[in-house]
Amino acid sequence: MTDRYAVIGYPLGHTISPAFQQAAFDHLNIDACYEAIETPPDQIGQRLDDLRSGRLSGLNVTIPHKTGIVAGLDRVTDTARLTGAVNTVTATHDGLEGDNTDVAAIQEVLRRANVPTGIDCLLLGAGGAARAALVALSRRGDRVTIANRTTSNAQQIVRDLAPDSGFNTIALDSPSMTALAHNSRLIVNTTSIGMHGGPAPDRSPLPDEAFHAGQTVFDIVYRPTTTPLLAAAARAGATCLGGLEMLILQGAHSFQIWTGRKPPFNVMLAAGRQALEAS
Ligand code: NAP
Repeated sequence: MTDRYAVIGYPLGHTISPAFQQAAFDHLNIDACYEAIETPPDQIGQRLDDLRSGRLSGLNVTIPHKTGIVAGLDRVTDTARLTGAVNTVTATHDGLEGDNTDVAAIQEVLRRANVPTGIDCLLLGAGGAARAALVALSRRGDRVTIANRTTSNAQQIVRDLAPDSGFNTIALDSPSMTALAHNSRLIVNTTSIGMHGGPAPDRSPLPDEAFHAGQTVFDIVYRPTTTPLLAAAARAGATCLGGLEMLILQGAHSFQIWTGRKPPFNVMLAAGRQALEAS
């Protein structure tokens, strides 16, 4: 019987997850299909019933359900508990398990790019993706400053995720942001500034003077693949990392959890890139 997997969110909009997950199943000749199921909050229970009954074998979970779905699961991994968010649900023989593969994906993007650990890092944003990034950066041993439009949200994620870390917070529009960014070896953007269809698609969260060669700038926004932030960082000679690789890696980790098979990363990346260009 064909196993069914899906991504759920609301509204789901255009998601490229079906393109790259299906490519992985097909490449490994696994009899499975992966679809996008737009799921309003009052239908999450139905999706969980689908998992418990075997109509679905696994789910990816996206905005706005990453937090709300936790209550319907039988257990979550330590990483999911720490971030308070689940993006992968697996139907196991003894119940539904939630995991958060965004954290491992962020760590792997930085590892693949040979970014040294234990360095000064500026994290922009304090939303859901920032929580995963803060856990990932803490695990790398980086010294993190969190900058956000709403400073209280930045303070809150430090209290929740890294209370003993001594990490500083700062307002994104603070006059000292440019110097702080310039002195940071690694800059990670998790705000939605620069995102196509987002609140400020043509803006960069930092001025051009923030960047220089020798820095790494990682923008987890993947649509467009070159955001205004990355374009400015590239002009200054910084190493630039886009969000597509992270998106594929979080999905590849989900694939491995569901199937126990090594995900064909390059196949998934090519399919994801093609789907993104076509959308
Ligand atoms: P979220 O929870 O809604 O957080 C949004 C963040 O952006 C908050 O820090 C918010 O600041 C800030 N922000 C929004 N509009 C702003 C504006 N006009 N000016 C300044 N700051 C603004 O969203 P999320 O789930 O963290 O996602 C953020 C981005 O990451 C999205 O573009 C998403 O597509 C991307 N993402 C990528 C991946 C990947 O795999 N590559 C995974 C997850 C997310 P306040 O706290 O002040 O509101």
